[in-house]
Amino acid sequence: MAQPKYLSGDKAAIDEFLSRFDVFLFDCDGVLWSGDYLFEKVPETIEMLRSKGKQLVFVTNNSTKSRQDYKKKFDKLGIPAKVEEVFGSSYSAAVYIARILKLPAPKNKVFVLGETGIEQELDSEGVSYIGGTDPAFRRDIEPEDFTNIANGSALDPDVGIVLSGLDFHVNYLKMATAFQYLQRGALFLATNTDSTLPMAQSFFPGAGSAGAGLVKAIGREPLSLGKPSQAMMDAVEGKFQFDRSRTCMIGDRLNTDIQFGIDGKLGGTLAVLTGVSKKEEFLAEGAPTVPTAYVNALGDLMG
Ligand SMILES: [Mg+2]
Repeated sequence: MAQPKYLSGDKAAIDEFLSRFDVFLFDCDGVLWSGDYLFEKVPETIEMLRSKGKQLVFVTNNSTKSRQDYKKKFDKLGIPAKVEEVFGSSYSAAVYIARILKLPAPKNKVFVLGETGIEQELDSEGVSYIGGTDPAFRRDIEPEDFTNIANGSALDPDVGIVLSGLDFHVNYLKMATAFQYLQRGALFLATNTDSTLPMAQSFFPGAGSAGAGLVKAIGREPLSLGKPSQAMMDAVEGKFQFDRSRTCMIGDRLNTDIQFGIDGKLGGTLAVLTGVSKKEEFLAEGAPTVPTAYVNALGDLMG
């Protein structure tokens, strides 16, 4: 496979690369920011791409935030963006459940492992759910819970889907309840299966790690609605109608962002080194996932 082109500091190469695309799909964490820390020259870079007439879509696996939450974050950090340009894995999951799965009522309720971002997006698509941020599930398991979950009296018979996202309140009661729904035939979906979450310029366990106990218990993987799943690419394309050959995916993580772009047969991919993956990983002989080009940081595109 061809070596990726290093663009930082090479104005001509940057101009040539940008001219090949009309649409840029952006990952957020590790590209635009790390937690609440905004990387240098990010707003200027976004403005520069817009001034060249590029269409921008922010495609993020972080399921704890809704599109509205993301818009607030963009505003707070001074990055120009519209709600319609944000496509998160919670929204992707809600769209998939409401418009693609379309389970017949009444057995179409979702048991949520996750935060308000998932609940808001399910609401936006008119999907009913239980669990999530409900305080009834944010407590220690009691002896009688085992009995009531096992005999079904603590379960909602209308639950047909378990949706696993990043839950900051992981506990045994929720895991046991979700496990029981899955054993009774509920579909197993995940907003995303990232192993880590970039925060505060460091890394923390991600949605895939938070949900790993349930995967181990049930012995099968969920269908993921986040990168690199092409179910998400199809949903993004369905909404934004772009030419894949004129589209570039920009991300910091090889096995999610860059793989997402390669599997989606986009015209190109751009890796940034401000997040998870290191250049040694894609420059190595026989590397499984190699971007088209890379920069040290997104702001390097300013030349
Ligand atoms: Mg990232």
